[in-house]
Amino acid sequence: MNDLEALARVSAKLGSNRLLVQAAGGNTSVKADGVLWVKASGRWLAKALDEPVFVAVDMPRLMRALAANDPACETCDAFVRDDLSAPGLRPSVETTLHAGLPQRFVLHVHCVETISHAILVDAPTRLTARLEGLNWRWAPYIRPGLPLFRTITPGADIYILQNHGLVVAADTLEAAVGLIETVGRRLARPIHAAPNGDQRRVERAGYHFADGPALAPHAVRLAAAGTYYPDHLVFLGSGAATIDNAVGSPPVILAPGFPPLARDDLTPAPLAMAGCLADVAARLAADDRPRYFTAREEYDLTHWDAEIYRQSLPASE
Ligand SMILES: [Zn+2]
Repeated sequence: MNDLEALARVSAKLGSNRLLVQAAGGNTSVKADGVLWVKASGRWLAKALDEPVFVAVDMPRLMRALAANDPACETCDAFVRDDLSAPGLRPSVETTLHAGLPQRFVLHVHCVETISHAILVDAPTRLTARLEGLNWRWAPYIRPGLPLFRTITPGADIYILQNHGLVVAADTLEAAVGLIETVGRRLARPIHAAPNGDQRRVERAGYHFADGPALAPHAVRLAAAGTYYPDHLVFLGSGAATIDNAVGSPPVILAPGFPPLARDDLTPAPLAMAGCLADVAARLAADDRPRYFTAREEYDLTHWDAEIYRQSLPASE
């Protein structure tokens, strides 16, 4: 099996684990023979064995362009090796991040256990205790894509991205997967039990329960107060409605004692993000202090060309 086949196999497995990857989130890559094979924008890692999800990028050209601050590095479209790539694929919005880390394999996942820490105000302190002995770094929140690449300093095996997720890098796939497993184990948090909710309040036409844990009252309060991470904003909008304040037909409604209510017409991507919100919120303690996106951060994410492109893809639905 060559490196790309091995990466596809691992990517499909990671992409099928809802606690690591939701919908078209996350991305993986391998560097070989001057080519960076990276997940294409809007494609699902879960489908890595079923359809082409990796696109070939010319590494020497991309590295020269990065050194020269070439604005073409924002999308990396100009560096695609058309002779190797399936037509119509554009490189992941995180392509520069993958290129900038020297290790052969780079895996980026939206690990729920990681996110449940990385959204907290005191995350660096908590992580320092839990990740002791590992070669890891904290990456303060910045918009994904080129700005994130600029703030990541090579030299670590693990990067915890504030209000975003996890990046691991290693020269073998086994080592990279091992890092994801180790971080997931060290950062695992218990799911807080939810008391029974009032069934009559959640009988709502046009809605069904998303796949995810029932939420305690404090989890509903924390989850509805703002937006925690980019893909939530992209697929569900800012924050979340609750059963007490829902107006009209929001995509998701949170009610104590139940999994999120999802509007029946949600496509798979927003539906997966509704489940992810429950997976993250159910791990929060009542006295946790989350850091939500500022209005400026939300604006930057929703007015970014690469993200608008990703949302426009049928594959990202
Ligand atoms: Zn990401």
